[in-house]
Amino acid sequence: MTATISIQKVDKAYGKIHALREVSFDLPPGGICALVGHNGAGKTTLIKLMLGLIQPSGGAIRVLGEDPAAGEFSARRQLGYLPENVAFNAALTGRETLSFYARLKQLKPATASTMLDRVGLGDAADRRVGTYSKGMRQRLGLAQALLGRPRILLLDEPTTGLDPALRQTFYDILHELRDGGATVLISSHALSELEGRAQHVLIMNRGTLVAEGTLAELRRLSQLPIRVSFELGPGYDDAAPTWLANLAASGTDGHVVLVPDDERKMALLQVAAADPQVRNIEVVTPTLDDLYAHFLRARETAE
Ligand code: ATP
Repeated sequence: MTATISIQKVDKAYGKIHALREVSFDLPPGGICALVGHNGAGKTTLIKLMLGLIQPSGGAIRVLGEDPAAGEFSARRQLGYLPENVAFNAALTGRETLSFYARLKQLKPATASTMLDRVGLGDAADRRVGTYSKGMRQRLGLAQALLGRPRILLLDEPTTGLDPALRQTFYDILHELRDGGATVLISSHALSELEGRAQHVLIMNRGTLVAEGTLAELRRLSQLPIRVSFELGPGYDDAAPTWLANLAASGTDGHVVLVPDDERKMALLQVAAADPQVRNIEVVTPTLDDLYAHFLRARETAE
């Protein structure tokens, strides 16, 4: 499948500061990608390069087949962007603001009203933006980014300030866009929120891409153990079952085994499931937080 975003050996220097070093990855259509990294890792710089707001110092960038830094970047109209800090004219109403962006994207003004309803701002549409709360301004920013069903959506810290209800609506909208073939890139520090929502993860550290892949690929690469714990029936009060005895580090409240991969996890689960004295099995796989910490540690050790 042709990549909608292709980043090849991209460098970006601001004077002596190297914001990005030799970053390469491709993103396909129809996917949500999480871009994670500490403050100053280079996430916003990457997004600005994709939008053509800044030029790379080296390497090649293609967005929908075009170079964003070239004068003619006609694909820009198919991009939605939510910046980290959204600023709007406080004197305009929400409807006026969004109608302005709709016109820029050559959309009918009615599109603005539909989108305001979608992000829960229908009732506040005719109030001045200056009177909006932080979360309401964030909703307006989202609405602006989502106008016109973009093929690529670049979101810098999109859920900061959103309440849980809108957060859910927000991801529902993203899933719809993804299912329609859009590429969605979310830069965020909210790792647990992205887990299960992003198919692909890019982990940045101090300007370099330290790991990328699906969560399953990152788990395999990291070799972090999977924790399987068993709750056993009274038949095993005195001694652990033989299938567990060789593996387990027994605890007082149950029995815990750390397995290195999915194959061994499945083998263990099959044996355990056949034992009628096993009352419950819990499997805890490494989270995105665990993987993030692991790959950053691995990079620090390598340096
Ligand atoms: P955060 O999570 O804090 O938003 P980030 O990962 O988005 O961080 P960037 O904003 O891309 O990080 O910054 C990457 C590096 O480039 C930082 O060291 C930053 O100070 C530097 N940088 C970014 N923009 C400029 C600029 N205009 N001039 C000089 N240095 C810059």
